Amino acid sequence: MSLPLLPGRECGGCVECCRVIPLSLPELSKPTGKLCAYCVDGAGCSVHAIRPQTCRTWFCLWRVVEVSDDWRPDRSGVILRPDGLEEGRMTLFVLRRTEFLDSPAFRTTVAHWIAEGFEIGLSVPGPVGTLPVRAVVTDWLRPATDADDPVAFQSRLTAALDQLDAHEFEPDGVIAHYAVA
Ligand code: SF4
Ligand code: SF4
Repeated sequence: MSLPLLPGRECGGCVECCRVIPLSLPELSKPTGKLCAYCVDGAGCSVHAIRPQTCRTWFCLWRVVEVSDDWRPDRSGVILRPDGLEEGRMTLFVLRRTEFLDSPAFRTTVAHWIAEGFEIGLSVPGPVGTLPVRAVVTDWLRPATDADDPVAFQSRLTAALDQLDAHEFEPDGVIAHYAVA
């Protein structure tokens, strides 16, 4: 999938996808949650000119949709996953619990998506080398967003994240292999 990118919006020092997204390619495989060996933390890809096609075409939705700069994943702790967008699914991959999750920018944006009819998924990572888990929380969050109630929203969000964190995380089965040359 390749969605049109917002002009002028760059990854900057964010390298979250090079850490959290697993790759299983002939030339590069790396487990979920392990920073790619070709990535310089805070700077980016050291093999940018010859990086795999998957790395050229995968972008989080912060690069695609009109959300505020606060949503940049290394600042917000949230990756907006691109898969499912065209089918009306918005997955918030919560890497860390940050103050951003308690901000009006986060709450009002999620409320807007719910009002627009998007399915809202919450996802959390497990330990390195395990698959993330995901749950649909649209109807769970809706009473709080309909009532424009920040306390109820935060309480429901925290409860959903706590439940996801308590899941058993399955191994991703990926063995690291680096041969981009
Ligand atoms: S997570 Fe998004 S902003 Fe961060 S490096 Fe990847 S594509 Fe860029
Ligand atoms: S090859 Fe480059 S772009 Fe691809 S995961 Fe590694 S550091 Fe990121």
